[in-house]
Amino acid sequence: MQNRSIEQYLNCSFACECGRTHKSLFAHYIFEAGAIAKLPALLEQLGYTRPYLISDTHTYEIAGRQVEETLCKADISYTSHVLKSPENGDLAADEHALGSVAMANDKDADIIISIGTGTINDLGRYFSYITGRPFMLVATAPSMDGLVSGVAPLIFHNMKITFPAQEPLALICDAEIMADAPLKMLAAGAADILGKYNCLLDWKLSHIINDEYYCDTIAGIMRTAVDRTMESTKGLASHDAKAVSVLTEALVLSGIAMDFSENSRPASGAEHHQSHYWEMQFLFDGIPAVLHGTKVGIGTVLMLELYNTLAEMEKPDFAAIRANISKRRSEKEWEKEMRRCYRDGAEGIIALEKKAGKNDTEGLLKRLEVMEARWDEIQELAKTAPKASEIYHVLEEMKAAKIPADVGIPRQYVYDSIRYGKELRDRYTILQLMWDIDKLDEEAEKLVDKYC
Ligand SMILES: [Zn+2]
Ligand SMILES: [Zn+2]
Repeated sequence: MQNRSIEQYLNCSFACECGRTHKSLFAHYIFEAGAIAKLPALLEQLGYTRPYLISDTHTYEIAGRQVEETLCKADISYTSHVLKSPENGDLAADEHALGSVAMANDKDADIIISIGTGTINDLGRYFSYITGRPFMLVATAPSMDGLVSGVAPLIFHNMKITFPAQEPLALICDAEIMADAPLKMLAAGAADILGKYNCLLDWKLSHIINDEYYCDTIAGIMRTAVDRTMESTKGLASHDAKAVSVLTEALVLSGIAMDFSENSRPASGAEHHQSHYWEMQFLFDGIPAVLHGTKVGIGTVLMLELYNTLAEMEKPDFAAIRANISKRRSEKEWEKEMRRCYRDGAEGIIALEKKAGKNDTEGLLKRLEVMEARWDEIQELAKTAPKASEIYHVLEEMKAAKIPADVGIPRQYVYDSIRYGKELRDRYTILQLMWDIDKLDEEAEKLVDKYC
């Protein structure tokens, strides 16, 4: 069931109309029934003879043992390390898990193969990077968009930090294993993809307002992948193999799109900032993590509400906004809020703002000027956003979480994530636009009233 549409983007480089040359080195994508049987031939083709396998107790049962048996039959020697999954919740990709991977390391292994999605993928990708070896992934569920990625989000001292990592040179997905994944994981993967509706709008928005680099071709690739996933969500609920194939392909394409743009713009916007904010709070509070895509789905509904509001809004009184700038939260008050919200991570957030100056008056005035001149265009863009209620119903159909309370995110965290989630990254999104026109606090209140 190799998919035609993705093939053209494997190991490709092309001169684009946007003026840049786009490149992705990700070359081998196998999605079919019994895909693991192809592993020995692929290793031979690529010239590797001694893999170091990393899995956890769950993923070992799902695919790890089968990988070992397949390698044994082909007479390929390997080292296999199975991390112990906790009784409750999931294994965290933190310094302890990484230490375990390092201590079981086979230094003579010439390739690292992670068996699993999420944590095991992040750990393997990072360990490959720091030990200078190639990386391969045998996926067990299409649950998030980091299947093909050159970064790894890891937890270090209770903070989630994005580290550089080795992008896989091959991704092997057994169609039956992927389709058999729990609905919760399929829905999380789909929700991560539905979030792209929002992040593509954020990207274009920044292009209009800040003249940030934007590529129609990359955005188009993602938009098609999202639309196809949207059409497949009903099939996911019944574990339909074709729907799972469409979803997996969309997740892979997000990675390729990020290779093309050389950053995460085509795959991450304000909806991801909501997810990251809540994840940090859960880490601070010692609450077990919720699947990444699940939180992105909830964040997407909230952020699309903001686009829907923007689409219907009267043109703001820009003169009044300018006149009131001095009445906004002072830098001191803002810092106090950062310390309250970001706790141990506050220093990093404050340092980022010092560098980025997202909230500086000079930059704000410049953006307001562009917004005033191009308001109609901005509103036309907002009108292309799907209705938040539409995404809400799709999540509902997949029995996924739709509102923060579904996964135990308290009202205060949501109120804060809408007002301050934008401080996590130097990336222009709908949240910064709402702040620019001095509507963010008011819209945050409306959203928590409706969804919390
Ligand atoms: Zn381009
Ligand atoms: Zn994501």
